Amino acid sequence: MEYTDAPTEPQPFSADMMQCPYCGTMLPSNAEACRNCDWTREATKPAEPKASDAMAILLSIIPGLGHIYKGHRIMGAIILLLITPTAIAFAILASIASAGWGILMLIPYWGAVMLHVWAIEDRVTPTPDEGEQY
Ligand SMILES: [Zn+2]
Repeated sequence: MEYTDAPTEPQPFSADMMQCPYCGTMLPSNAEACRNCDWTREATKPAEPKASDAMAILLSIIPGLGHIYKGHRIMGAIILLLITPTAIAFAILASIASAGWGILMLIPYWGAVMLHVWAIEDRVTPTPDEGEQY
């Protein structure tokens, strides 16, 4: 969404005042918090990282759990039960052949799982048009 400070329309308030987005109380335009309610400038900052992303990445310490957490249950189960054991088996085989170094193969694998779980769509919250609405 585009936002400019250009006064394209008449402003009902003086330039150094703003309205609280929660309760409408007039505040100085540089106010960090509302004195009437619990609004703070911090809370309305855009591009706030979603908590679910951080949680999903954390859960991906066990690959697949983060995907399940985000609502991708089938994908998570496949990663957890199929891909991860296969990757670990290959890494063990590789480490036998390479005096232990093959286990390092798992590091990029874990990284890829975490990157993927961060990138996939969050399906924790149902879409508004899903199911019956009033
Ligand atoms: Zn307020």
